[in-house]
Amino acid sequence: MDNVRRIVKRVWGYDALLPLQEEAIGAVLARRDSIVVLPTGGGKSLCYQAPAAALGKLAVVVSPLISLMKDQVDGLTAAGVPAAFLNSSLTAEERRQVEAGLAHGRYQLLYLAPERLVLPACLGLLRRAGVGFFAIDEAHCISQWGHDFRQEYRQLRVIREAFPDAAIHAFTATATPRVRADIAAELGLRDPAILIGSFDRPNLVYRVRQRTDRLRQVTEALERHRGAAGIIYCIRRAEVDRLAEALRRRGYRAVAYHAGLADDLRRRAQDDFITERADVVVATVAFGMGIDRSDVRYVVHAGMPKSIEHYQQEAGRAGRDGLPAECLLLYSGGDFGLWRSLLLAEGLPAPGALPKLGEMYGYCQAAVCRHRFLVEYFGQAYPVEGCGACDVCLGEISVEDGSAALARRILACVAEMGERFGADYVADILRGADTARVTRLRHERLDAYGVLRQHPKAAVRSWIAQLEGHGCLARDEGEYPTLAVTTRGHRVLRGEEVVPLLRMAVRPVRGASSRAARPAPPPGRRWTSDEDLFEALRALRRTMAEERGIPPYLIFSDASLREMARDRPATEEAFLQIKGVGLRKLQELGTRFLACIREHTDGPV
Ligand code: ADP
Ligand code: ZN
Repeated sequence: MDNVRRIVKRVWGYDALLPLQEEAIGAVLARRDSIVVLPTGGGKSLCYQAPAAALGKLAVVVSPLISLMKDQVDGLTAAGVPAAFLNSSLTAEERRQVEAGLAHGRYQLLYLAPERLVLPACLGLLRRAGVGFFAIDEAHCISQWGHDFRQEYRQLRVIREAFPDAAIHAFTATATPRVRADIAAELGLRDPAILIGSFDRPNLVYRVRQRTDRLRQVTEALERHRGAAGIIYCIRRAEVDRLAEALRRRGYRAVAYHAGLADDLRRRAQDDFITERADVVVATVAFGMGIDRSDVRYVVHAGMPKSIEHYQQEAGRAGRDGLPAECLLLYSGGDFGLWRSLLLAEGLPAPGALPKLGEMYGYCQAAVCRHRFLVEYFGQAYPVEGCGACDVCLGEISVEDGSAALARRILACVAEMGERFGADYVADILRGADTARVTRLRHERLDAYGVLRQHPKAAVRSWIAQLEGHGCLARDEGEYPTLAVTTRGHRVLRGEEVVPLLRMAVRPVRGASSRAARPAPPPGRRWTSDEDLFEALRALRRTMAEERGIPPYLIFSDASLREMARDRPATEEAFLQIKGVGLRKLQELGTRFLACIREHTDGPV
């Protein structure tokens, strides 16, 4: 273990292991099968990369993401760990080189897609090379109960038969016991160590808002993170195109990404984002699996996802470097209806799909700490009172005074109108609108007419949507959607149950960016701000990445650059103390980064 720690420091430049990495690495060293469950950003790669670098035997990494293999291998190579991948993107000549390298025992890690691994020729190649252990990434793909089942993963059961002596280690961010059991059974694991990390992501700030004006709400979020990387998820492709275009017109470096685009356009969008030519990707959920940019500072959901599992995964792409990041979710009652009709249009929706949709809607409308809700949803306890990092705990949203009375008035109105009208018209009646339709139907005579006159229409619409979310109102999507009072709604009407209604007018977000306090310059020195230096280091990183033909995040993470900007190392020794700086990177990149820091620091006053 001490040896591995030294390697982690020397190669990756990390002083300490993250929670669970030690146990996971321990299982690999002990050659005991394992299942490691860590959320996105939890540091799973190091759990197999570090022992692979220490063991001096080949480790085979199975990953479904061909697009990520090259980056992973480039990253390892840049850090001085010999690694290679085999997939369809290689030319015949490149493949022969890798095969020859394998025969000579030149690599410590080999990345493969599952469908390639199980080919007899490939199994033969690996047998001759001698495999120390297997690491199965995204292992939930093996389970039909996961959210990303892949048929190819089912073939991985041959590993155990073909390599009875090699340990198998499975890694995933999906924690449900059912998926875990599937992984163990399908891979034929023997008494695996089961290691489950905390599902909380303390560096993420969660916010949920009713969607009132998509473009304005999205640009407000973008303004909180000017020039930083972000992802905006939409439900439908047309929304992706429209929003990306609108943002470009406003001067943001935004690209669109969805499955309806031609392959080369999609690749270009992804490439622009990875190489930092674009800051914002507007995308459907098709985007993200192949993205390893760890400095994503915000993820905005411009529409509600269809399950908490999806939300956790998509929002989890923010802040993988451990620095603060924001996850903003904009939703409306319409999103719920849209997903429901999309799911029902598939014929028989997958088991659990509709309840999961309901849980997602429930999250949007719950007035409890978001961190707590998410952690408890995944079956873990959340001992913190007041996370300080969600809209609820930050006091940005609050429960409406007199919630109970408001709810009763709205429900009574729907009942009084005979459950034959939609949300918009119900809101009109409650607010006492003077429209031709009201006059024609003589609805100004209803008891409910005008009882919420003093409230803005957007607020009334929001409460109606919230009552739908709480299951007090049911929407019937006929030719004209209508609202009806449910059994629960009647209980609320009778005062047997109370549901909280959230206030529409939210407090504005304050002090969104959490910039580190700046130390005073030593006497006789002046220096530009940390922020200037950080930007200069980012620019240098971009240049050096371009020169090497690799994505900037493989040079250094934002976390490393932030530390450099704060600590301003002046010597090679000090530079090596920065988290993420290993020996190889010091040798190859140190001189120019040190020069850049000096330029921004030196000079008499
Ligand atoms: P996962 O695959 O679980 O989503 P990664 O392996 O991509 O997570 O790691 C997430 C981030 O954490 C990366 O930016 C990585 O550099 C960083 N990281 C991993 N291990 C450590 C560590 N021991 N100390 C500091 N940073 C780490
Ligand atoms: Zn909270």
